[in-house]
Amino acid sequence: MKIAVAKENELGELRVAQVPDTVSRLVKHGFEVWVEAGAGIGAGYDDAAYEAAGAKVVADSALLWGEADILLKVNPPTKREDRAEIDWLKPGATLISFLNPLSDPTITQQLAQREVTAFSMELIPRSTRAQSMDALSSQANIAGYKSVLLAAASLPRIFPMMTTAAGTIPPAKVLVLGAGVAGLQAIATARRLGAVVDAFDIRPTVKEQVQSVGGNFIAIDLEEKTEAEGGYAKQVGRDTQERIRQGLSPYVAKADVVITTAQVPGKPAPLLISEETVAQMKPGSVIVDLAAESGGNCACSEAGKNVNYQGVTIISPTNLPSTVPANTSQMYAKNLLNLVKYLAKDGELQLDFEDDITSSACVTYAGEIRNERIKEALLVVSG
Ligand code: NAD
Repeated sequence: MKIAVAKENELGELRVAQVPDTVSRLVKHGFEVWVEAGAGIGAGYDDAAYEAAGAKVVADSALLWGEADILLKVNPPTKREDRAEIDWLKPGATLISFLNPLSDPTITQQLAQREVTAFSMELIPRSTRAQSMDALSSQANIAGYKSVLLAAASLPRIFPMMTTAAGTIPPAKVLVLGAGVAGLQAIATARRLGAVVDAFDIRPTVKEQVQSVGGNFIAIDLEEKTEAEGGYAKQVGRDTQERIRQGLSPYVAKADVVITTAQVPGKPAPLLISEETVAQMKPGSVIVDLAAESGGNCACSEAGKNVNYQGVTIISPTNLPSTVPANTSQMYAKNLLNLVKYLAKDGELQLDFEDDITSSACVTYAGEIRNERIKEALLVVSG
């Protein structure tokens, strides 16, 4: 079986789906591996390193896509007139990448029409059994770390307490909103830099995890159920949202740094910080909004931009994992390697739809979309 690793073409994307180390493991497993020329350059891996790992480097994109039995990628494929990647795939080929299937279901529909078997990395279950394939976690972990560094670099003060002959500097106050994978890593990173950290999450079960990485958990009394299937948060009603905003407002006002990571899968991000609350923050304070692409947790966020609102800097990065491409590629590549090994028996993919990992992540098979939520999202998009 031929596994192809495509070069990413999205603006600003530096990651790659396989690194030389994982390529050599695929080769040892009996796969033939093709890598698109220049695919790893952004992440620090040149073509020679892939060749040394046993891959064939191919410059012709359409040839590489067309020959692939399994195509590995980071971002969804394109179906643009000038670059019809989906049409380059042969019917029956397998594509494994992030596919954004609930926000942009048309890509999944096009893959089904092309009779491609597609796996969406967003839909790997968040279970202990699937942990080694969980790319949402591997990428969010690094994003959480990097968000704190961005904040620290913009803050006009340092994070740790310092007692010096020139006086005592108090530690920075960091507030983390949303304590999933990215939030917990942000808490741990801010603590390592010496800040005092408060954190809130709508799921009260997170309290112990927050405390275990050194954060103080903020409790807000909510009457509504806040946890949905699979451990994810539920989208709560307007009154509950307002109650959360009001409850958080005094903590936001006194924080030097706020890192927001709150998301509800397939829905707009919850608004946790209003303009009025930003206006109460000290000049020089920093907000990093990791949910900006899905609407933002802060009313002043603009995805991809740095905004100054009454002296407060609001940073809204759109692809933080790509800013640490060596490590995020390494981790993503390992997630994909583990998934391919999981799906393959005797060098061939053998799909068992009774298995929860295969069944959740495989979104198209034999010309059909296999996921009801994607079908619903498609109905909404097509009116
Ligand atoms: P996510 O990116 O979907 O959301 C980030 C955080 O925002 C979540 O903790 C969520 O509860 C919180 N949030 C949502 N709405 C909020 C609101 N209005 N106010 C405050 N916080 C809000 O989450 P994620 O990091 O992808 O994790 C999702 C789930 O998967 C979690 O339960 C996590 O523990 C679980 N998980 C399990 C495993 C495993 O078992 N191996 C691995 C990874 C993640």
